[in-house]
Amino acid sequence: MNEMILLKLGEMVLKGLNRRSFEDKLQANIYRRLNGLGQFRVYTRQSATYVEPMDDACDMDGAWEAMKKVFGVVGLSRAKACEKDPEAILTACREYLGQRLAEARTFKVETKRADKTFPMTSIQLSQYVGGELDESYPNLKVDVHHPELTVHVEIRDYAAFVHADPEPGAGGLPVGINGRAVALLSGGIDSPVASYMIAKRGVALEMVHFFSYPYTSNEAKDKVLELARLLTPWCGHLTVHVVPFTAIQEELRRNCPESLFTLVMRRFMMRIAQAIAERCGAKALVTGECLGQVASQTMEAMTVTGAVTSLPILRPVVGMDKEEIVRLARKIGTYETSILPYEDCCTVFTPRHPRLRPLPGEVEAAEANLDIDALVRAAVDGIERVQVRLA
Ligand code: ATP
Ligand code: MG
Repeated sequence: MNEMILLKLGEMVLKGLNRRSFEDKLQANIYRRLNGLGQFRVYTRQSATYVEPMDDACDMDGAWEAMKKVFGVVGLSRAKACEKDPEAILTACREYLGQRLAEARTFKVETKRADKTFPMTSIQLSQYVGGELDESYPNLKVDVHHPELTVHVEIRDYAAFVHADPEPGAGGLPVGINGRAVALLSGGIDSPVASYMIAKRGVALEMVHFFSYPYTSNEAKDKVLELARLLTPWCGHLTVHVVPFTAIQEELRRNCPESLFTLVMRRFMMRIAQAIAERCGAKALVTGECLGQVASQTMEAMTVTGAVTSLPILRPVVGMDKEEIVRLARKIGTYETSILPYEDCCTVFTPRHPRLRPLPGEVEAAEANLDIDALVRAAVDGIERVQVRLA
């Protein structure tokens, strides 16, 4: 084995979350992300997780990319393996970190020794490697307090490893450690970002999409499934519950005042999402709503739509500007798909003058003529579940 990946674990150490379950969940998530990239061994020691390839057939570049998207990891480095011998370690530093050593002005060497039978102490080895590197790179000066580059040396039971400072990881908490939520995924920019943000807090997601065929096309549905697929490197594999929504919308067009159409429609979304949440043990709903972005996203409208569910509605992008949401969408890789020009169910029968600030009781009155339970049940019974595998 030539190389491995070292992961630095995140905030559970500080938050007093159950450390063992954090590590177990993270490890299970890591194994799943490494699926198809070769045989790896993954284990955790002292808030670092080691991802070791079992043979040369492993796709290390693929694993590196995958590990950057695992929530619960704050930093990661690729480490080069070598013999447990001071000369071999020095050579590995020169070969593997040569570029960084040539560019930095100040550095230090830090050694960790798991193998206590190694004949030098950590300090002796750091001094030896540091001294040699200092001599061979005239640009370098030792600075033990604020070095530009830290050369890490690890002596493990079966090999030594060298690596530079970790790169930033995805942060957050391992998906699944904070329960499950139902995320309402439209084809827009905001809801994939909202889903990402809640998954980052350790929440496993079930996705729901309301589909208004034939008013919205199969391409529009495929786009949503593609968005879900793009989220899987962050969220893990996903189930998308595709809810037939046409019958409800047609019923609302017939029997509901036009100005309240959007609000009543959104209340149906919440009721159906809650029914799905009950079936899959989810404890919250997630939306991409953003305060003031559109007519149905005033505080009054949020009160009205939230009133039909007893679950908390998590709206992680509620206080963000569009540019901030777009920046995040680009970072996580969903933006280009989100802006593909397919219609969404919300653009079907859009009222000309939507009510921005519904009065208490008004929406309930508008729903009085509807058989709400039957409409919700029919929609739930018609759900198509699509499994979206890891991208
Ligand atoms: P987005 O960019 O996420 O589509 P938006 O700014 O277009 O959001 P709305 O269309 O008002 O806002 O939708 C608000 C939220 O309601 C969405 O972020 C999403 O969570 C949910 N939603 C809207 N339409 C659908 C749909 N067809 N299927 C599932 N969820 C939806
Ligand atoms: Mg939308």
